[in-house]
Amino acid sequence: MSSHLSYWFKQALEMESPLDTQTLATDISADVAIVGGGYTGLWTAIMLKQQQPHLDIVVIDKGLCGSGASGANGGCMLTWSTKYPTLKRLFGEEQAKWLVEESEQAVYDIEQFCFEHNIDAQLYRSGTFYTATNSAQQGQMQPIVEQLEQLACNSWTSCSKPELTASTGSNQHIEGHYSPAAGSVQPALLVRGLRRVAIQLGIKVYENTAMERLEFGSPAVVNTPHGSIYAGKVVLGLNAWMIEHFKPFKRSIVVVSSDMVITDPIKKQLEQSGLKQGASVVDSRIFVHYYRDTKDGRLMLGKGGNQFSFANRVDPMFNKQSQYADLISRSFSHLFPELGQSEFAYSWTGGSDRSVTGLPFFGHLDGQENIVYGFGYSGNGVTQTRIGAKILTSLVLERQDAWSQCGLAKGPLGYFPPEPIRWLGAMMVRNAVRRKEDAEDREETPRPWDKWLAKFAGAAGKADKVE
Ligand SMILES: Cc1cc2nc3c(=O)[nH]c(=O)nc-3n(C[C@H](O)[C@H](O)[C@H](O)COP(=O)(O)OP(=O)(O)OC[C@H]3O[C@@H](n4cnc5c(N)ncnc54)[C@H](O)[C@@H]3O)c2cc1C
Repeated sequence: MSSHLSYWFKQALEMESPLDTQTLATDISADVAIVGGGYTGLWTAIMLKQQQPHLDIVVIDKGLCGSGASGANGGCMLTWSTKYPTLKRLFGEEQAKWLVEESEQAVYDIEQFCFEHNIDAQLYRSGTFYTATNSAQQGQMQPIVEQLEQLACNSWTSCSKPELTASTGSNQHIEGHYSPAAGSVQPALLVRGLRRVAIQLGIKVYENTAMERLEFGSPAVVNTPHGSIYAGKVVLGLNAWMIEHFKPFKRSIVVVSSDMVITDPIKKQLEQSGLKQGASVVDSRIFVHYYRDTKDGRLMLGKGGNQFSFANRVDPMFNKQSQYADLISRSFSHLFPELGQSEFAYSWTGGSDRSVTGLPFFGHLDGQENIVYGFGYSGNGVTQTRIGAKILTSLVLERQDAWSQCGLAKGPLGYFPPEPIRWLGAMMVRNAVRRKEDAEDREETPRPWDKWLAKFAGAAGKADKVE
């Protein structure tokens, strides 16, 4: 594994040292083989085992559990409430409302799970602020809040400018809404905690064990370098790596980077700034800024949409220092001029699996009744992977229930153009979005061409933000 891990993963592994890890070295059988030891794979393994304790479940990861997005993300625990318009457009009002409520409930469930299972993931259910930092961003949340209000499932309250300044640590926010059904977590401690609980429940976890090939059949066979798993059912929780193995998914996502910087501990300054401990703050750009503090008094700022991977190659997007640290540093100075921060303790980058809808999708692989998959979280997965696990659990157990029947369980709901059009188009749109958002920050009118192109990044509303 590359030496430049995410700040969180490095911290989590240091706390676990020496690492106790097992690699598959022989052929084995299992009722369920789960490929991918991130949140999706581990939550699914845990739910299955809790619901059907007799099942023999194996999880494998090509690296360590959490070495993908689950150990590298911003740790902002957000929900689908801001995606209500997209959910309604795709699945209708009733299902959209249900998914919003379930996503909010998932925040509380993850908190409860960590409490019950002694996972100290530095989880703060302190809520989130969705804000506007210039006049072009204003007014985006209000129609969503009104629709949620009508359905009696609105958790958002509007904040005055002084309230925002007092709670977000920055006086750049000119409008904002707050929801308590959100928060933040040290993402790698969460995923490594799930791994520990999975093992304690009797699930076998093999790391540094890559699936090289999957043979269809009953049993299905997961081939790894030093052993095969003969499995009644297979769950693919591979995130963007899915497209490297299964060509039909090639155009179902684009792999887009999110980049992060984190300061040294600045506890006193953060206290003075008023930033609400553990809250996530997200602005209303297309390529959003998101930030939060940490338990030891650091401030992390991330930004989505900086780089699109050519041919959707995933590995080059992970375990690297961010190439965009300067760009994020400028954003940092704009948001927090009084912190006077020009140096950061650490920066890193990771690739997100962005789908056409901005929502994940689940289903059976290639018509195989015993192989299920789920990915496409589009940068919103810390909370939502728990919902993904509910869908996958239902599919594995062949239940005909709301989860297996829901609109998210019908495979990809759209496709991107093929390469090289996809990459060239993505870069053109990215550059237009940058110019548009820079103009808006200066309170200038963006060029019509840039505004038009930016629509392809999903400027239609909160639902299509690139996190
Ligand atoms: C930089 C970044 C920032 C983000 N910030 C946020 C945020 O603040 N809030 C939020 O809600 N979401 C955020 N996300 C999204 C969130 O992290 C993901 O949606 C979530 O972690 C997905 O979990 P997963 O288990 O599906 O995927 P992963 O955690 O990526 O797990 C997939 C696993 O599959 C393994 N694997 C791949 N190929 C093989 C193979 N052949 N054999 C075996 N194993 C294999 C990988 O090693 C990996 O561990 C962010 C994502 C990134 C990349």
